[in-house]
Amino acid sequence: MRIRENPQVPANAPTRCGRFAPSPTGPLHFGSLVTAVASFCEARTHGARWLLRIEDVDAPRTVRGAADQQISALAALGFEWDGPIVYQSRRTEAYVAALERLLASASVFPCACTRKEIADSQTRSMTPTDELVYPGTCRNGIPPGRSPRAIRVRAGSGTIEFDDALQGHIRQNLSNDIGDFVVRRADGLFAYQLAVVVDDAEAGVTDIVRGADLLGSTPRQIHLQRLLAYPLPRYAHVPVAVNQAGEKLSKKTLAPAIDPKDGPRALLCAFSFLGQDVPGELGRASVNELWQWAFAHWSLDRVPRLRSIHAG
Ligand code: GLU
Repeated sequence: MRIRENPQVPANAPTRCGRFAPSPTGPLHFGSLVTAVASFCEARTHGARWLLRIEDVDAPRTVRGAADQQISALAALGFEWDGPIVYQSRRTEAYVAALERLLASASVFPCACTRKEIADSQTRSMTPTDELVYPGTCRNGIPPGRSPRAIRVRAGSGTIEFDDALQGHIRQNLSNDIGDFVVRRADGLFAYQLAVVVDDAEAGVTDIVRGADLLGSTPRQIHLQRLLAYPLPRYAHVPVAVNQAGEKLSKKTLAPAIDPKDGPRALLCAFSFLGQDVPGELGRASVNELWQWAFAHWSLDRVPRLRSIHAG
């Protein structure tokens, strides 16, 4: 399977749509702000809609209060989203419907394997994506005496290819690097890979701007988009903000929360992280003035074509 570009969403399509989709695992920090700024600027400078989706599909990782904190920080920083905020935790019916379509086309199968069994089955110590490769144990039926746990989608043969606006031409052979992957987890929750694809397609998202840490997920998502006959979005994976140890800024790496009172400075830092040439006289600008400048001057071409950059 070869995907060079998306023939279904021409660059001048009238209804372009972007989105920001934070996982509510902690407060908004500089790393998530960078992604929000990039996708918001890209949408606003192309006359596109811009949606906000709270990715709380992974209930055990969701931190109580984090979504509200992220939403109010975004609002205080001058972000304006179109339409109601979508919560993945309220979208189970849509995921069930998508899974039923995959079942009907025999694209998915139940799997009895535990993570440990899959880890033990590895013949290569490390794959290019650092992921465990599913060995196909249950692809043709669950072994006798075992019970189904997760549901996996068949990876198919062939290579998935796409052109990322920042990271260039990406190709991945899903069977070799990932194998059949989980769409419904052993705990009954839907996997991020399925949820994100269904949500983006149903919301009409045409332009996905997000962190380069998700580049490795994109071929799996394109595979699902094809199986579900969804239009394929355009992708731009912006560099991820990392600390001095090279770790992605996150709650786990103790990234400080953005203080909305410090909004102008945070936005200025995000613009310059994203390679935008902010003039010195904007040093004392308000949040509104900064957005006005950004909408007039934003250029995706100036964003560094890197997977990660040290923040600060
Ligand atoms: N929820 C993901 C995150 O916070 C982003 C998913 C996406 O943009 O596709 O890292």
